Amino acid sequence: MMEKLRLATLWFDGCSGCHMSLLDTDERLLELTAFLDIVYSPLVDVKEFPDKVDITCVEGAISSPEDERMLVRVRNSSRLLVALGDCAVTGNIPAMRNIEGAPAMLRSIYTSGNGLQPQIPALDLPALNDKALPLHRFVPVDLFIPGCPPGADTLFTALTALIHGNTGHIALPTCFGA
Ligand code: SF4
Repeated sequence: MMEKLRLATLWFDGCSGCHMSLLDTDERLLELTAFLDIVYSPLVDVKEFPDKVDITCVEGAISSPEDERMLVRVRNSSRLLVALGDCAVTGNIPAMRNIEGAPAMLRSIYTSGNGLQPQIPALDLPALNDKALPLHRFVPVDLFIPGCPPGADTLFTALTALIHGNTGHIALPTCFGA
């Protein structure tokens, strides 16, 4: 019996739609979990990113110093890092703010309306990078799975190929290695 691979999934600056697509594999998730242990994910209750993860799928762009630190931690603990969805692959929706930068975005959100005391909150607002950027701008990425979100069939095909170690035969013209 093949030893199960350790799978992690997480999201940074994303909408969770890519994880919804993973759930959309429906009963095929059971097929995958015959080969995979989910050791860290929004889908399971684990607080600390573990060591020695075989495959980590990352949704979302990198938008803050905290994202950067966590991404490096994840990269160092993962054998294969997968950019899951367009935000992780290109920046996509979060990167729309890059045209003007983070300070202009915050001014637009908090001070351009008709509130009585428009102001940018001084407390509890996490630090933001000026630009939201894709994963490969910070760390090496082993596989890119584009799509907003990638379809459930795409994810199932890609994960199945990764499980069996034959990514060279993934039948997806839009998948490519770093
Ligand atoms: S790629 Fe699309 S579905 Fe996935 S996190 Fe980004 S906006 Fe959401």
